[in-house]
Parts: sequence; structure tokens; C-alpha cells
Amino acid sequence: MTEHLNHFIEGTPCEAFDRRRFDLVNPVTEQAYGSSARGTREDVERAVAAARHQLERGGWSQLGGAQRGRLLAKLADLVERDSERLADLDANAIGRSPIEPRRMDLPNAIANLRAAAGWANQLEGRTIPTGGYFGTKTLSYTVREPVGVVGAIVPWNSPLMITVWKLAALLAAGCTVVVKPSEETPQSALHLALLAQEAGFPDGVINVVTGYGNEVGRALCEHPNVAKISFTGSPEAGREIQRTAGVLFKRVALELGGKSPQIVFDDASFDDALRGCALGLFANQGQVCAAGSRILVQRSLAERFGAALAEAAHAVNVGDPREPGVQMGPVAKKAQFDRVNRYIQRGIDQGATLLAGGVSAPEQGWFVRPTIFANARNDMDIARDEIFGPVGTLITFDSEDEAIALANDSAYGLAATVWTGDLARAHRVAAAVKAGAVGINCWSPLDANLPWGGVKTSGIGREGGFSGALAYTEEKVITVLLPA
Ligand code: NAD
Repeated sequence: MTEHLNHFIEGTPCEAFDRRRFDLVNPVTEQAYGSSARGTREDVERAVAAARHQLERGGWSQLGGAQRGRLLAKLADLVERDSERLADLDANAIGRSPIEPRRMDLPNAIANLRAAAGWANQLEGRTIPTGGYFGTKTLSYTVREPVGVVGAIVPWNSPLMITVWKLAALLAAGCTVVVKPSEETPQSALHLALLAQEAGFPDGVINVVTGYGNEVGRALCEHPNVAKISFTGSPEAGREIQRTAGVLFKRVALELGGKSPQIVFDDASFDDALRGCALGLFANQGQVCAAGSRILVQRSLAERFGAALAEAAHAVNVGDPREPGVQMGPVAKKAQFDRVNRYIQRGIDQGATLLAGGVSAPEQGWFVRPTIFANARNDMDIARDEIFGPVGTLITFDSEDEAIALANDSAYGLAATVWTGDLARAHRVAAAVKAGAVGINCWSPLDANLPWGGVKTSGIGREGGFSGALAYTEEKVITVLLPA
């Protein structure tokens, strides 16, 4: 199938300003299967102007929260109607089995839109008692106003779901948006924009400019009329975005990477912990920000747990994800294939014990073998860096204090999981671990009502939940003098 994609600006699909395009490449065949418009600064200019017009003078600025909520609920229904197609678009673009996005990404995205439909009409201000103004009484109250035009920059690993996290919240808050999907996965964002148009969102509320990060993404960050950048992606790009946004005092939300620990105590249910660790390592080929890639395991359990995890890795059926029975496809791109193999080689060189997998030979398709290392130390590269592939690193600990110290000895702080049968210990460890989200006996629970985000190198800000919608508002205070 050949796909010929374009931007979507002010309700109309359009070519890039200079008509340039870039190829879309299938990770299974390594062949180009289509192309998309390669955005420029001029395209960003047009999209921001359309978004700004809607925000300030168009129909969007006239809509109240209840009407925005009604549109969001309609969009949720349309996403539900097209959910198989949307899951397939995302899965095919990165060589993922469509089963995962059908079970996880799409239900989560739909729930987010439905939750946001409710938030849209709940963005209330406060009445605040004050000491008056030079002896005269005053009345002070606050209102929540949309921050303005948002630049939403999205990665390739769960494109539709992450786009929806941003859109649901910012649309509830009354903002308008220019979406910059990943250059690997522009399809589902473009389809979502069409569904929004069908739902009745005015043209210009949602614009999509496809292209590269250092072209479209950078132009959005540098645009003076973009009030906030909501970015999900790598710490390297996040750092650059924060620098650029800082010059213009732009708001930023940065959802970055992770090296999340799964702490397995010897009083945990062995089977539950094993299932949870395998899911946290191998879902989406390990290309998950919250991947539980650092398995901290209590010494008495370490050998048995490592062997069982290696067996689980051997049992994963790797191949073309469109074939029945295949559980794991290739990683999404050549750079990712090289990166994962480089780390596996480094793990071997630095002395960790390879229990399963290993360096994969380049064949057709960027297939990586699910890999498990044991006897690793927390100072090894495979324990410190985000690999973003199906590679697990087992590190042994003796005491609860040591487990907490190891969990926190990381540049990242996105998620953590505690596996234990001791409830008091579970809460103690959850409180002590420095991470944005902790799962007790469950890996990475996601819900539309829960905030999501990290600390340290994992980012700044939260998206999801009602507080995620508040993050797209400014709290304005109004004071009126009340003379006697
Ligand atoms: P990436 O940083 O390479 O790209 C992400 C997006 O940013 C893409 O759309 C890209 O084109 C754009 N971009 C790149 N450089 C840019 C720049 N200088 N200015 C503006 N835009 C730029 O990341 P990726 O490879 O697409 O995604 C993988 C990373 O995303 C991993 O680190 C992963 O952990 C992280 N991630 C985090 C979360 C989360 O919720 N915390 C979720 C998913 C992925």
C-alpha cells in the first residue's frame, strides 16, 4: 500500500510549502511504503496562524466548557468507531503487533477523551479572602483561561495514545494546537484530525504539520505565538526544547525517558512478578518509556527468577507482526536496531552474564532478540542508560534499604514497580522510591484519571488526570474594590 500523506492545516490537507516530502519506511521490509509532507518554518507559520485565529477570534473562542465537552465526547465515539483502523495505522508504522494497541493504547485514548469531556466544564476559579486594599474591602476571584496555542510534539512508540493525552487535556482547557507527530508515525494523528473535523471541531483548532524534529519541531519551539510546548520524547531533544522555550519564557511539559526499576522481593508472588516483569520488558519490543528494564531481585530468589525470565524471553515468538502467533516485531528503525545491539555488546563487554538473547545479526527487518542479563551492577551502561529495546538487566540486592538505594541511584525517575506480599513494605518502598508513578504488584498501570510524568531526567510536569487539564490553563486573579 502506498501512502501519500500531507499536513492538515485549518481543516484542509495540504502539501509542504516547498513541496518537499520524506519517505515512510516499513521496519519489517526496510522498504519505503509511502511519503509525507516535509514541513518547514513556513508550514508551521500557517498552522500557528490558523490555531491562533481560532483561539482569539474564531468559533472556538466562543464555545463554553459544556460545548467543548460535547465535542470531546463525540470525538471519543468516533475514535472508538475507528479504533481497529487507528491501532493498525500505529502498529504497521513501527512493526508492532496490532494486538497491543487494540488492547492498551486505544481503550486508554478513548477513556481519556471521555474523561476530558467532563473536565472541560469543571475548570473553575476560586473566591479568595484578602486583607483589602488600603483599608477598603475587596472581592478577589480567579478564572482559568487557556494558555494559548500549544505545540504538541509526539514520539513514535505509542503515537495515537500520546497525541490524545495531550489533545484531550488542552482541548478541554480551551486551547488550540499544532501537532508535530513523529516522522516515523504521522498516520494516526492525521486520521484523528479528520475525526475531529467530523465531530464538529471548528477548522484550525487541531492542525497537524508532519516532518522532522529539527525542522518542524524546532520551528514550533521558536515560534513566538506558541504559548506552550508539550513534548514527549528523548531527554536529548527535551533539553534542547527547554533551552529554546526558556528564551521566550514559553511553558514546557517534558515527558522524557526512563530506566525504571522493578523491585522483586522474595515474599512476592513469583508468577505474578514474573509475568509483570516480562510484560514490562517486552511490550512494544521494549520501546516503552516506562519499560521496567532494571530488575532488582532479592538474592534468595535471583537465580530462579533470572532463569524463569530467560525462559520467558526464549518463548517470545519474534517475526513479522502481521503473521498469526507472532508476539514481537522488529524495533522501529535502523538507528534503534544499532543502538540496542550496541548496548547488548557493552553489557557483554562489561561482564554481565547473558542469560537469553544477545547481539542480533542484521537481516531483513530490524529484529532484536529478547535479551536478559544477570549478575549486572548498577554502574554498568545497561543499568544506567535507557536502551529502548527488549533488554532486561537483573541486579541482586540483599536488604530493603539496598533495594531502595539501587532504585534511586539513577538519572531517571519515571516509574517503579514493587513486587511483595508484605503490604507495609509495599507502601514503605513506594514512598521511598523517587519516581512519578509507582505500581505495587502491577507494572505501569495507566488510567485516564491518573497523572503521568517523571522526576529528574524523566521530565517536568504531568499529563493525564484533571491536573493534566489544569496544566493547560493560566489562573488569572481579578480584584474589585468594594467601597462602603
Ligand atoms: P525523540 O526525542 O527523538 O523524538 C520525539 C519527537 O520530538 C519527534 O516528533 C521528533 O521529531 C521531535 N524532535 C526531535 N528533536 C527535536 C528538537 N530538537 N526540537 C523539537 N522537536 C524535536 O524521541 P523518540 O525516539 O521519538 O521517542 C523515544 C523517547 O521518547 C524515549 O526516550 C522514550 O522514553 C520517550 N517517551 C517518553 C514517554 C513519557 O510519557 N515519558 C512516552 C513515550 C516515549
